[in-house]
Amino acid sequence: MKKITILVPCYNEEKSLPLLHVRLATLMDSMTAYEWELLLVNDGSRDGTMDVVRELRAMDSRVGYIDLSRNFGKERAMLAGMDHATGDCMVIMDADLQDPPEVIPEMIKHWEDGWEDVYARRISRGKESWLRRKLSLCYYNVLQKTTKVDVLQNVGDFRLIDRKCIDALKQMRECERYTKGLFSWMGFKKKEITFDRHDRAAGESSFDLFKLMLLGIDGITSFTTAPLRFATVLGFAVSVFAFIYMCYVLVKTLIWGDPVAGYPTLIIVILFLGGVQLISLGIIGEYLGRIFNETKDRPVYIVREKEM
Ligand code: UDP
Ligand code: MG
Repeated sequence: MKKITILVPCYNEEKSLPLLHVRLATLMDSMTAYEWELLLVNDGSRDGTMDVVRELRAMDSRVGYIDLSRNFGKERAMLAGMDHATGDCMVIMDADLQDPPEVIPEMIKHWEDGWEDVYARRISRGKESWLRRKLSLCYYNVLQKTTKVDVLQNVGDFRLIDRKCIDALKQMRECERYTKGLFSWMGFKKKEITFDRHDRAAGESSFDLFKLMLLGIDGITSFTTAPLRFATVLGFAVSVFAFIYMCYVLVKTLIWGDPVAGYPTLIIVILFLGGVQLISLGIIGEYLGRIFNETKDRPVYIVREKEM
């Protein structure tokens, strides 16, 4: 029998978890052709999430959990889940029921047809501010233009991935994770389905604008070196400008003479060196950025306790 893991990262979700479990239990009970595993990753919640998780575990043996030692963020919590999942495929979804469990059978159907990464694109986004929607649109445009990987708009982490994809993702141990980008980067046969994103069942979103912005920066820095290249280009531009100005000052001095001695050479040297320094910094930065990202090599998350 094939086994399906449902991975749910939870951060302060004590109110939504029981609701989620009811909906998922209905689904799991109705699809008896599969073995199920509901893997809850408690990402250092500050409320009673862990107690709820333990209750669910006692009630339903399909529930397993991983309790992280502190809040590591959703991206790392997802990796923890992937490391521990035992299913032949995995559905990743939010705890707040914004991703409707009713879409899962459709995902499984496509998976059985041979698709390896079935992702859900939301055609409506639930309750969200105008600003957040506009910023999100803008962000995806920038990311699309500066990176070589396709990061799809309106596609979140709600998806079904095959065991092959899980194993691929597990190999990517970077700390500043941007899982959305990794999904695109890893390749595999992708199938899109659409769904209506609902409003949160309970509690509130832990991604305020600031957190989203930080995630956005992670997205850019982990998939493109465009900002560093920008420094290089700037350096070149300054040098070219300095060169032109140098010619101008030289010619002017030769023809009309120069009342203040030393000024032309001084300004030429300052401008030219400034440009050269920026170029060098840009190039060094280009390498340093890569090394920095690679070297820290800490564990991506730490587990306090787990039960599967
Ligand atoms: N989440 C998490 N760690 C965090 C923040 C969020 O595991 O540090 C989980 C959260 O419990 C939820 C999912 O990630 O299951 C999405 O979070 P949220 O609903 O707050 O984000 P939004 O849907 O507003 O983007
Ligand atoms: Mg949500």
